[in-house]
Amino acid sequence: MRIDVVSIFPDYLAPLDLSLIGKARRDGLIELHVHDLRTFTHDRHRTVDDTPYGGGAGMVMKPQPWSEALDQVAAQADARPTLVIPGPGGQRFDQAMARRLAECDHLVFACGRYEGIDERVYEYAARDFEVRVVSLGDYVLNGGEVAALAVIEAVARLVPGVIGNAASLVEESHEDGLLEYPVYTKPEHWQGLSVPEVLLSGDHGRIAAWRHEQRLLRTAARRPDLLPRAAAAGAGELEIAVATAADAGELLTLTHACWLKEGIDNRSLDIPAQHETLQSLTQSLRDWTTYVARLDGRLVGTVRGRLQDGPAGKGAQWDIGRLMVAPDLQGRGFGRALLELIQRSAPPAAVTYGLLTGAASEGNLRMYRRAGFRVVARDDPPGTVSLAKRRRATD
Ligand code: SAM
Repeated sequence: MRIDVVSIFPDYLAPLDLSLIGKARRDGLIELHVHDLRTFTHDRHRTVDDTPYGGGAGMVMKPQPWSEALDQVAAQADARPTLVIPGPGGQRFDQAMARRLAECDHLVFACGRYEGIDERVYEYAARDFEVRVVSLGDYVLNGGEVAALAVIEAVARLVPGVIGNAASLVEESHEDGLLEYPVYTKPEHWQGLSVPEVLLSGDHGRIAAWRHEQRLLRTAARRPDLLPRAAAAGAGELEIAVATAADAGELLTLTHACWLKEGIDNRSLDIPAQHETLQSLTQSLRDWTTYVARLDGRLVGTVRGRLQDGPAGKGAQWDIGRLMVAPDLQGRGFGRALLELIQRSAPPAAVTYGLLTGAASEGNLRMYRRAGFRVVARDDPPGTVSLAKRRRATD
């Protein structure tokens, strides 16, 4: 991969000589060229900025040095390079964009300063480059160099051969929309703190299940916005988190409210959810992965999942249960979104999803069928229908 960076502070890019990216350059995997924008000026003061038309604070980067710099880079390009122009008004940089940029043979970075670059440069550059305006985040930096460094580092490490162990790229935060699980190394005990017992067990299945759960918990705690990606399609307004004991009281109220209707529909007061107590519900939070959905702070929905042995010889099943949406908010797609979320949360070992509903709960049955579930048993226990669905590789 060839990378060109145009900046008025070429020394800012010096860190690209270090560490893995520096090694990749020395190994010939990445070819980096840094250009000083001022070498494309023609006045004694090497001026790159001027006052803005229309008035206002600050200075704007002049178009002429940029056009000459970009012309020179374009003249050295074999094909049409991608030009990344860092800017707070750009598309937000993320791992998916890093992956797309890593597929390019030639990336060029135009690092702005002051109030930014004359807008006409973007249009001019589009003649020879695929132009992308890219933001590092919702804050303002003094210049594009730090953004270029961050993007180059995130992209270059995806170039084959740059990171020795390619497997470590797969397991990282953001690669599949979740954050990475916590990691530990020797010694086992340190400063009164111990490595979780499961990691010392040698049981790869348990370790994989624990790591998956940790990824979900960590994502829910730190970046709940990432969790319900699929769910967001129908429930963008909901805030989803993994339930804690502090949610138990509200969950109990929601459970009783939702299962009253189930009881009426199914003419039954024998549904376990109707008999939940604060104590049993708090215990269930330890046994199940339970999500709560809040709307403006109010707890309005929940769903839970647990890995169980599936039907004999058919591998593990992700049992889904207690899918509820507050009665006044039903029919808005929140239930479907929660159902999708809980399927996405299944640990790798799960080969099927299973759930149970009342035989007379017609709305639920319709929703489950639409989601791909098929009836596998009736009246076991009496008055219920069991449904299951095979997990797809894309779930
Ligand atoms: N006036 C500009 C605006 O409000 O959009 C901000 C200009 S900023 C002070 C100067 C330069 O820093 C920008 O041209 C861009 O190169 C860089 N920059 C600032 N914030 C950035 C961000 N969040 N992501 C990427 N680049 C940024």
